[in-house]
Amino acid sequence: MEQVATKNYIIDFDSTFTQVEALDILGEIALSDHLDKEERLAKIKAITDEGMNGSLTFRESLVKRLEILDAHKKHLPLLVKELKGKVSKSFRYNKEFFSSHSDNIFIISNGFKDFIVPIVAEYHVKESNVFANSFEFDAHGNIIGFDETNNLSVNGGKADQIKKMNLSGDVYVIGDGYTDYEIKAAGMANKFYAFTENVERDNVTEKADHITPSLDEFLYLNKMNKALSYPKNRISVLLLENIHPKAVELMKEEGYKVEVYPAGLDEDELCEKIKDVSILGIRSKTQVTARVLENANRLIAIGAFCIGTNQIDLAACNKKGVAVFNAPFSNTRSVVEMAIAEIIMLFRKLVERSNAMHDGRWEKSAKGSYEIRGKNLGIIGYGNIGAQLSVLAESIGLNVFYYDLEEKLALGNVKKCNTLKELLNKADIVTLHVDGRPENKNIFRAREFSWMRDDAIFINLSRGHVVDIIALRDNILSGKIAGCAIDVFPEEPKSNANEFISELRGLPNTLLTPHVGGSTQEAQENIAHFVPNKIMDYINTGSTSNSVDFPNLQLPAFENAHRLIHIHENMPGVLAKINQVLADHEINIVGQYLKTNELIGYVITDIDKEYDKQLIKELRGIEHTIKFRVLY
Ligand code: NAD
Repeated sequence: MEQVATKNYIIDFDSTFTQVEALDILGEIALSDHLDKEERLAKIKAITDEGMNGSLTFRESLVKRLEILDAHKKHLPLLVKELKGKVSKSFRYNKEFFSSHSDNIFIISNGFKDFIVPIVAEYHVKESNVFANSFEFDAHGNIIGFDETNNLSVNGGKADQIKKMNLSGDVYVIGDGYTDYEIKAAGMANKFYAFTENVERDNVTEKADHITPSLDEFLYLNKMNKALSYPKNRISVLLLENIHPKAVELMKEEGYKVEVYPAGLDEDELCEKIKDVSILGIRSKTQVTARVLENANRLIAIGAFCIGTNQIDLAACNKKGVAVFNAPFSNTRSVVEMAIAEIIMLFRKLVERSNAMHDGRWEKSAKGSYEIRGKNLGIIGYGNIGAQLSVLAESIGLNVFYYDLEEKLALGNVKKCNTLKELLNKADIVTLHVDGRPENKNIFRAREFSWMRDDAIFINLSRGHVVDIIALRDNILSGKIAGCAIDVFPEEPKSNANEFISELRGLPNTLLTPHVGGSTQEAQENIAHFVPNKIMDYINTGSTSNSVDFPNLQLPAFENAHRLIHIHENMPGVLAKINQVLADHEINIVGQYLKTNELIGYVITDIDKEYDKQLIKELRGIEHTIKFRVLY
């Protein structure tokens, strides 16, 4: 039988095992009471750099840094406490790797055992497997130097150390620094993996056999990842249409490989580009058609960094097992603030007054100007926007009424109307906040205007197709309606370069805005937070809450379990087949959640037992399976 070579793993400490350089943290602690702390820290940094670029030997730089540090034994427990919270993220969740290979994991560092040993011990790394320097103290406990006989305080010391250890088998080095690469350069390692989760240095990555943005990638490359889940750096994200930098930052922080495009892509370009993409981020211009989805074999989720999702073929996404997320409430407050502003502007005829001034006319008069206090506001559509508007409107003294097709909880003292006619008979201001369902086309026509009070004002910030524009124009011109504010239109120009054509142009006390109700910097930033978080939650836990196309499942956190995520065509009997496969493998189900929509079934199964590739193969092979993945 072929003998499998033992594998030894050499891991660096500073900026690899932990996210930071320990001496920098020790400096912060030891110098916290020193008035010249900043100067000294800057000096330490300069010396570290000199050490790195070779103008000082490593030992010289260490001696100089310790001199400036002024550290004491009593600082070390504080340092250890701090470092415990700074272990690299991917090391923390791959703790099992350390416990199952504890004989063959070695920490070789130019740092100090005094703080390394207590940190790595929590990861089952043996003290005898830690090779690093040791501090020397004076009689008062001050750190005055280090054991100079240790070759880890000199350049090239790491390779010498490994030579001395005389390891049998293969040697894999994981580290962020040039001294880690030197082990391979000296012929003492089979492979060098540049670890870039915390810092990335060009002179190191260009020498590496592999770049590993996290320990996941190392484990994946070496077929050692316990579960079959995928390293995050292999999840490629394509963000189109100039998506807010905050979203880019969040997804990079999560460890994804992110590619950003300022513009949209047309169908052919997207068909090509989508082939390697796991997560696609778009705004309103990019059309995600069935043809695009045919090419999207790696796609897990789409983020619509906007409110509407008409640009996405949602049924085709379902069939492909692609979850779609948008940002339905991120601009609610922006729309509400605009509605309040417009109510006041219309009651005071501010647009007319301002236009007259621009024409050189001074029209000082109280005629036709009213306070909004005590007026009746009628909200049609008491959803996210309608409900929030009611709260703000009440607080500035309006009496609020609403009408909704569905039973809704009335907030504050807001009163419900049972019919649209009842609401229109009461309201001095009518404001539309219904959704864009096709049945809402022209729900506001001549008849509805005739039910309104004389001299009432009318606002539509919802969807263009809900109002019959000609009827609105007639009612403004006849003087029945005292004014209106319209932000959305049955036909809107495709871009800022096209002319706005509408029967409403030039009408009196008519405030027209180019669909900007939700367009604020705050809303953009909210969207940039909301959508990536929903997607990351879906990838990490399977939760589909707020998904536009998937059955919505809000899942409990899972600990000490594996989570199997199964997406299938909605056919009878699939759940039974999943459970049969699990039973055949004598696997106990800890929790199971199922929800379906017309097209697909979404099943989450938490199991508490190790599973093997055969189980996964059988689950994937169940008839009508669309997608399957495992989380751990
Ligand atoms: P929502 O889905 O939370 O609320 C819509 C409410 O309207 C629901 O309660 C629904 O039951 C009710 N409704 C639907 N049809 C109705 C009808 N015919 N009569 C009475 N009630 C009806 O939506 P939301 O987040 O509050 O958004 C409301 C509207 O605002 C949407 O059309 C949205 O597209 C639009 N919007 C516009 C802008 C903008 O820039 N102008 C920005 C954001 C949202």
